[in-house]
Amino acid sequence: MALLITDKCTNCDMCLPECPNDAISIGDDIYEIDPNLCTECVGHYDTPTCQKVCPITKCIILDPDHIESQEELWERFVLIHHADKL
Ligand code: SF4
Ligand code: SF4
Repeated sequence: MALLITDKCTNCDMCLPECPNDAISIGDDIYEIDPNLCTECVGHYDTPTCQKVCPITKCIILDPDHIESQEELWERFVLIHHADKL
């Protein structure tokens, strides 16, 4: 799954610079995660780093509309970061 930023977001800006895939951006009201870029940090970290740095409890959650296997997340990581080697 990609992750989803809920309306608990206070636009504190902690998560944006930490995402290794540049999947986080400033939306109309709150920050947003692009599900086409989020890999749950697979390939970079053991756990989603945006969740780790977010100061608000349960602000960033798994997105039930974007359910993906570890293999699919890994393939996305390779496509984003190593497409030149495919
Ligand atoms: S889980 Fe990782 S890849 Fe996904 S938005 Fe958060 S920091 Fe970025
Ligand atoms: S760290 Fe949490 S509260 Fe801060 S901008 Fe990101 S999602 Fe919003």
